[in-house]
Amino acid sequence: MSTVFGKIIRGEIPCEKVFENERILAFKDIAPKAPVHLLIIPKKEIPNLQSVSTEDMPLVTEMLFVVQQLAQEFGIAGGYRLLTNNGAGGGQVVHHLHFHLLGGSPLKSHLDLG
Ligand code: AMP
Repeated sequence: MSTVFGKIIRGEIPCEKVFENERILAFKDIAPKAPVHLLIIPKKEIPNLQSVSTEDMPLVTEMLFVVQQLAQEFGIAGGYRLLTNNGAGGGQVVHHLHFHLLGGSPLKSHLDLG
């Protein structure tokens, strides 16, 4: 694993962990864009959503259950945004699949794609 998230998974650099099991890790984004900004990642090295295979689908489903659980824990279950940037052209900087969970303040109904 060559990305910064690989280093976090291996414990080589620290993170503010909010969830972990054998397959999934979630932690606070280092540069939060909202009062709650969490990243949910698989421990398996998957570059992005486009690379997800049929066999990975149970893992992605489990990631979504973790999203629900964290939204509840962080008090944003009634209003949040979940997004993933796919590939450099989609604004992805860290090429290890991750879901951004954002909330804690009113989010605009439109997407700012700038
Ligand atoms: P993306 O543009 O979708 O690849 O987003 C990568 C995200 O990772 C950004 O929101 C960064 O702030 C976040 N990030 C990068 N390095 C770290 C780190 N060491 N700990 C926590 N979040 C990080």
